[in-house]
Amino acid sequence: MYITRMNYNTDEILTQIYKWMEDVERENPELVSSAVYGHTFEGKNIALLKFGLQNPEGKEKKVIWMDCGIHAREWIAPAFCQWFVKEIVTSYKTNKKLEQMLQNLDVYVTPVINVDGYMYTWVNTTTRIWRKSRSTPPSGNSCLGVDLNRNFNANWGTVGVSFDSCANTYCGKEAGSEPEATAVMDFVGKMVKQTLCFLTIHSAGQLILLPYGHPQISAPNYDELIQTQAQAATGLVSSASPSLTPLSCETKVSSATCCQRIRSSRPARRRTQERCPSSHMSTTKPLTVALSLVLLSLGSLW
Ligand SMILES: [Zn+2]
Repeated sequence: MYITRMNYNTDEILTQIYKWMEDVERENPELVSSAVYGHTFEGKNIALLKFGLQNPEGKEKKVIWMDCGIHAREWIAPAFCQWFVKEIVTSYKTNKKLEQMLQNLDVYVTPVINVDGYMYTWVNTTTRIWRKSRSTPPSGNSCLGVDLNRNFNANWGTVGVSFDSCANTYCGKEAGSEPEATAVMDFVGKMVKQTLCFLTIHSAGQLILLPYGHPQISAPNYDELIQTQAQAATGLVSSASPSLTPLSCETKVSSATCCQRIRSSRPARRRTQERCPSSHMSTTKPLTVALSLVLLSLGSLW
């Protein structure tokens, strides 16, 4: 159910991932379907897996979105999406809570969204730390790629971005200028009313970042997000190190394995807070943790 051994031939990387997606769909027809919902700058497919069971009462289902690999060099992110998929398809028949969730939610998972950039990182050691897409620069410039994470139509070009096409945080010529970002905006935009959660997985740091990453704008349900993410982070710590015993807050703050930073976008609060997990350490299952992470972003993306 995992891709347990990657073929390091660059041309084979995407083939292997998409073959794995086909296998997941074929082996779980009652649960899984797939779709190609866009194409990259280089013309490669952007594909997702959809997980959902029929609602017994025929009610309209809510939606959770998850994408991985928007920053090419963060290889753990696509691996996380694969693990997440594996956990769902191997657990839903025996985990009643998960079954009920899937009867009320459709979960959309894009294992690799920045396909061009991700494949480029596999070329050789000099390309390994490439982060952006691979689109051509504006006329008069020489550097390729856009930080797709900063190309969405959400306070585009305001904070935390560069307009220098050579910068790793280059946000593109305009909001949605990149086909990868547009593909997501179009797809999710059509079901925005049903969408409970939009989650994008990175692996650059041990952080849970809440919307909107803007110093003057925070999500309407900011307090709920803070509370929920703290629970999710606690579960994550306990799953990563199940033998951990609860420590005092002060001890956890000084421990890289026990403490997580919460980056706040609310001006009245500190930009970065230290939060410590509470004491329910060893009982949370990994999938519950992952779903908690998914659900922590309850609220509207757009
Ligand atoms: Zn990232």
